[in-house]
Amino acid sequence: MESNLANKEKKIWLSSPHLGQNEQTYVQEALDGNWVAPLGSNITDFEQGLQNYIKENKYVVALNSGTAAIHLALIMAGVGVGDEVLCQSFTFSASANPIVYLGAKPVFVDSEKDTWNMCPMLLEEAIKERILNGVKPKAIIAVHLYGMPYKAQQISIIGKKYNIPIIEDSAEALGSKVDEKYCGTFGLYGIFSFNGNKIITTSGGGTLIVNSEKEKEKAIYLATQAKDQAPHFQHSQIGYNYRMSNVLAGIGKGQLEVLEDRVKTRRRIFDRYFEELKNLDFKFLEEPKGFKSNRWLTTIQTPSFQTREKIRKALEIKNIESRPLWKPMHLQPVFKNCKAYISGVSENLFEKGLCLPSSSNLTEKDLGRIIEVLKKF
Ligand SMILES: *Cc1c(COP(=O)(O)O)cnc(C)c1O
Repeated sequence: MESNLANKEKKIWLSSPHLGQNEQTYVQEALDGNWVAPLGSNITDFEQGLQNYIKENKYVVALNSGTAAIHLALIMAGVGVGDEVLCQSFTFSASANPIVYLGAKPVFVDSEKDTWNMCPMLLEEAIKERILNGVKPKAIIAVHLYGMPYKAQQISIIGKKYNIPIIEDSAEALGSKVDEKYCGTFGLYGIFSFNGNKIITTSGGGTLIVNSEKEKEKAIYLATQAKDQAPHFQHSQIGYNYRMSNVLAGIGKGQLEVLEDRVKTRRRIFDRYFEELKNLDFKFLEEPKGFKSNRWLTTIQTPSFQTREKIRKALEIKNIESRPLWKPMHLQPVFKNCKAYISGVSENLFEKGLCLPSSSNLTEKDLGRIIEVLKKF
């Protein structure tokens, strides 16, 4: 048993943190200055740095998770008890959970084949039917899954046509673009996640992207327990404890300096898999014209569920982590009673798809180990 373990090769993770040169310096500055609080210059620098990166005159609010950012976006979009919110079904549960936190109802919409994200046609069909049913959806949550942008232009046009705000879940798509415009800037509100597995990280964290100084103030007010102006603590609204720590923002500040490099590396890893495996029976997700994915995770579609499982297990034996694609929300037990507009696209992806290790700190040797296993199929 022991010798078996000792012989096991180093674990290869799906997506691991990858620090740059300066994170420790910025964290140390926070400690030295005693700014160990959800307040301080690392937070303002991190927010400003991200603002400069995504441009479009957006305002960034640093929070303690991407989920918190979605929750606040929904509140700011006016979502409340009993409202319906249209949400991409093919996603991580954190896209949909905050709808339920507010006592609102998720209505799920399936994906299209070319981006794996919310199908614009199905979205419009869903909106029309919900309106006919007597309830106009209060918001739309669209997701740039695995870093591949959704059809931003078409989805925006539909949102405008029916006057429904779009919340852009860009948790996996920092650095992705459509026609040179960054993901996270298309919706009324955008969100990013800086969880440990994302393209850059603060160990845990998120940001809300808004359009004005005033909205930023509102978001900070909600994220810091909704304190009114008074010498004592006075509250006229329910607040949350969602602000980012200044210590962790130091990590974020350092990570922003290497973001472009991380995007390039993840894209190079995709290209490498593609080149090595394109002649086998795997399908890759290719970029529509004008779309640039950060390739957060490289994903493949295998010919069948059985093949997918064989590959996953063969990798596991070699101590290599891989994972089936997201299980759609309309198939999740917890959402089984929610309305859903389904075409079969996401179910098919879930059945046959696999995420491959895509960390930007993968070595040549690691990639060789992974590709060797895959080539056997
Ligand atoms: C990671 C993720 C989130 C949630 O972000 P956290 O920072 O982990 O709360 C939301 N949506 C998607 C699509 C994600 O991948």
